[in-house]
Amino acid sequence: MRQNMKTKNKIPMRQCTGCREMKNKKEMMRILKTPENEITLDTTGRKNGRGAYLCVSMDCFEKAVKNHGIERSLKTAVPDEVYEELKKELENIEKCQ
Ligand SMILES: [Zn+2]
Repeated sequence: MRQNMKTKNKIPMRQCTGCREMKNKKEMMRILKTPENEITLDTTGRKNGRGAYLCVSMDCFEKAVKNHGIERSLKTAVPDEVYEELKKELENIEKCQ
């Protein structure tokens, strides 16, 4: 099912590491590996570093944990405590919406 992608305003699309759908990157958050090798949640998309994209959704986050999509994207191991931190941050974000 390919659709004609010729649109006037090209929207940058990124693939969610959880559900694997392509979405507007502005609607997504990034999980970022900083140059200091820290893994952090980047909700603005403006920080530097290697990022894994994810829908702002706990479902997608959990899928990405299970399928190791974040680790694959960042090309690094993600410790459990980092996942826990990201999960807490995501819970806060979901509450604010
Ligand atoms: Zn998703």
